[in-house]
Amino acid sequence: MSLQIFGMPVSRGVAIGRAVLVASSRVDVAHYFVDAESIALEVQRLRQARDEVAFELESLKGELPADAPAELAALLDVHLMLLRDETLASATRAWIEGRHYNAEWALSAQLEVLARQFDEMDDEYLRERKADVEQVVERMLRALVGSGGLPAGASAHGARDFAGEDPLVMVASDVAPADMLQFKRSVFTGFVTDVGGRTSHTAIVARSMDIPAVVGAREASRLIRQDDWVVIDGDAGVVIANPSPIILEEYRFRQRQSELERARLHRLRHKPAVTLDGQPVELLANIESQEDGAAAIDAGAVGVGLFRTEFLFMNRDGDLPGEDEQFDAYRAAVQAMRGLPVTIRTVDVGADKPLERMTANELRHEYGLNPALGLRAIRWSLSEPEMFKQQLRAILRASAFGKVRILLPMIAQISEITLTLDALKLAKDELNQEGIAFGQVQVGVMIEVPAAALMIDRILRYVDFVSIGTNDLIQYTLAIDRADEAVSHLYDPWHPAVLHLLRQTIKQCTAAGRHVSVCGEMAGDPAFTEVLMAMGLRSFSMHPGRIAAIKQRILRTDTRQLDALLDDIMVADMPEDIIRQHLAARAAH
Ligand code: PEP
Ligand code: MG
Repeated sequence: MSLQIFGMPVSRGVAIGRAVLVASSRVDVAHYFVDAESIALEVQRLRQARDEVAFELESLKGELPADAPAELAALLDVHLMLLRDETLASATRAWIEGRHYNAEWALSAQLEVLARQFDEMDDEYLRERKADVEQVVERMLRALVGSGGLPAGASAHGARDFAGEDPLVMVASDVAPADMLQFKRSVFTGFVTDVGGRTSHTAIVARSMDIPAVVGAREASRLIRQDDWVVIDGDAGVVIANPSPIILEEYRFRQRQSELERARLHRLRHKPAVTLDGQPVELLANIESQEDGAAAIDAGAVGVGLFRTEFLFMNRDGDLPGEDEQFDAYRAAVQAMRGLPVTIRTVDVGADKPLERMTANELRHEYGLNPALGLRAIRWSLSEPEMFKQQLRAILRASAFGKVRILLPMIAQISEITLTLDALKLAKDELNQEGIAFGQVQVGVMIEVPAAALMIDRILRYVDFVSIGTNDLIQYTLAIDRADEAVSHLYDPWHPAVLHLLRQTIKQCTAAGRHVSVCGEMAGDPAFTEVLMAMGLRSFSMHPGRIAAIKQRILRTDTRQLDALLDDIMVADMPEDIIRQHLAARAAH
């Protein structure tokens, strides 16, 4: 039966595909297709993993001390029985043979099917056996790691090589930002999560992938079943499972329209972003990894306004990237940008970007009781001086290869700037002593905390440039957790207090002759282009996929008409209505 679920639209367009349900703990399982010739090999890997786990369990049983509780041996027997259960084996094989999934993916897909069957059982004892199946599958997944197959990164490339397959969309309860990066290289053409807010980092990475996505769709992963046909409307925030043929046809039509629109916008990529009255505007890219540099160039970005380096630090089991590894990544980004400036932000972990996938309790332990207000971003870097120095040295070294700027996240105190400048000086002195080359780097700060916006005049005494992180500025001004879907309706970029802070920051930076940019999600949303321009902003940084749409807006803007608009907006209780009327009037002309 057809089913509609409402969530938040976070990445535009329409995706239509079969649902792949992925449990949060298993999102980083490699998902890739195997070609017809490799199916037998994949089935063999599965069989091998099963034999290995059987051996492991038998050994465990054999080694149980004589006085061990009888339940332990019984439990191992249950696990052995589940492992040898032919339905698990044959159903998993069917995913490999029928859908060409790799063994790990097939196994986790089958686990999702079984988990749901267990959840629906009336008998409590049987329901609880779900945990046993999960444990057995986890053991098999572990056994599969290292038993061949493509490495997770390479795997997903060219994933849809074999013809005739249906497109796939991912449905998960939640996805950690670090795991989202895996999906950048994956097979999915759209995705839905139960939790998350519009500017949660999961949503941000989705936008950077430029695939339709809906987050905060509450019950989606419970209501949608493995393999269901699903429509994801990333413009409206609607997910439809098992759509009727008429609905499906309507969405296929919209999908074609939006592809045509994309192709049309793409043609603007080499056109300079200049307003009708001749004002040039700088359109920069936000990137999450050095590989995104190519997309930035392709989209016509004139530089990188924000390189979120924290993604290099995630999911590494505590083994953080050292100076050389970071240097390689930053240099690759700088070289990919072919002489255009690259703004490298020092690591911004904490809040909804923990280094490892964590439970709420672990998160609290690591980053404080309230991670968004805890040891995050620059605070974390300053509390880890050795790590921070390595990052600064790596960035400095990359500056020998092109134009590099350093950007500091979440500044709230002048001392955070001066301590960083001291650390930077130390790093430069060391490099000089070692005879290692580096270039000139400008240092800038992100304005993301209201306190910083309110003392921008003082901050400007210490820095070369400013970038406004509206995602956090809104979160901290309105006291709304950006990742919490329960309060997402209150997350309001149009709030007069937010607009006020934005205007005064842009105005003071411009008056002081300092470069100022916006790199939060507002920069890539055409609804805000004119307002930000009216405030005097001439530099916007966004996901490469958003650049063309913003450029189109700029090409149609006449800044001489914006002063009156801004006056109206700044005194309005509902500024959004004013801009809507303005746009409607302009469209009517
Ligand atoms: C922001 O807060 O607006 C920003 C760009 O940084 P991030 O989204 O990575 O927190
Ligand atoms: Mg931020």
